[in-house]
Amino acid sequence: MAATVLLAEPRGFCAGVEMAIKALTWMVQVFEPPVYCYHEIVHNAAVVAAFEDAGVVFVDDISDVPEGHPVMLSAHGSAPGVVSDAHDRAAVMIDAVCPLVTKVHHEVRRMAEKGYDIIYVGHEGHDEAIGAMAEAPGATQLVDPRVGLAGFSPRDKGGVALLAQTTLGLYEWEGVLADAEERFPDLWTARRSDLCYATTNRQTAIQELASRSDVLLVVGSENSSNTQALVRVGRNAGVPTYRVDSAADIEPAWLDGAEIVGVTAGASAPDQRVQKVIEYVAPTRGVETVRVTAEDEYFPLPPQLRRFMAALQSLVEGGVACRTPGLPGPIENDREFTATEALAILGV
Ligand code: SF4
Repeated sequence: MAATVLLAEPRGFCAGVEMAIKALTWMVQVFEPPVYCYHEIVHNAAVVAAFEDAGVVFVDDISDVPEGHPVMLSAHGSAPGVVSDAHDRAAVMIDAVCPLVTKVHHEVRRMAEKGYDIIYVGHEGHDEAIGAMAEAPGATQLVDPRVGLAGFSPRDKGGVALLAQTTLGLYEWEGVLADAEERFPDLWTARRSDLCYATTNRQTAIQELASRSDVLLVVGSENSSNTQALVRVGRNAGVPTYRVDSAADIEPAWLDGAEIVGVTAGASAPDQRVQKVIEYVAPTRGVETVRVTAEDEYFPLPPQLRRFMAALQSLVEGGVACRTPGLPGPIENDREFTATEALAILGV
């Protein structure tokens, strides 16, 4: 039995996931089912299952949404054609794209308009990579960080931009960056890279855990890019590292002889799952939090949702619905309302 659990801080939900989960919770509260969602709202099996139980239908093709139904677009960002199709066919269309993904979409458009050839470092088939590259498909080439730049040859070596999926491993990004800077001395890239704060903070935290742990457990789903990046960081540090969706996935043999077990979670994994993992490990000397930084990022709900809810509120205050007029409701207090509380409404 393990003596100590080292618990990473920060871990789990990032500001983009918080926003997306709360936004979809509002949708299922306000509309009769089904509510449609283009792609998994976030890449976590428990979160997706909870929304399916609440009446959300996830689709991978926007034409599968019957006309006149409410639609949400996922946090990973959607191709411009998907956004306009969703807008045309939906009764209400809410885009829950994370603002940090939107920033990369802007960069793709801006650099393509300037005539640059764009290297987009990311993982083939990932929703975020597909959405971002669709902003300028003729100017953008996907580079898998495991393969590198061998297959990339620009029209003009002086007009190359380097962008990235927000959830890459830092070590993956740094390798391609170093190579690109050597090959293309005039390389344009975002000042602080496109890797988001949540990605880098969680990777820094697991590195710290790895320096002190015998085994690492990473809570998150298989298709979660940032979860997989955490697993790779742990393994690269030489520590046996296992991804689990829940405590039920833990194999007892993983913990044989482990005195110190490090626990963290990808950006889309509910903390309730983390607590169950700790309960399973049952450390005899308790839990020590290892905090590498504090996070206070907050992303407001999507503007379309806020406008829609404001219109509903006018009806409420006009006496058409039943809330006490004049009192602020939870939509105005969104900063204090967490995705964990939203999921609790759905029974997670
Ligand atoms: S991992 Fe980063 S980019 Fe992705 S939703 Fe979270 S904050 Fe946004």
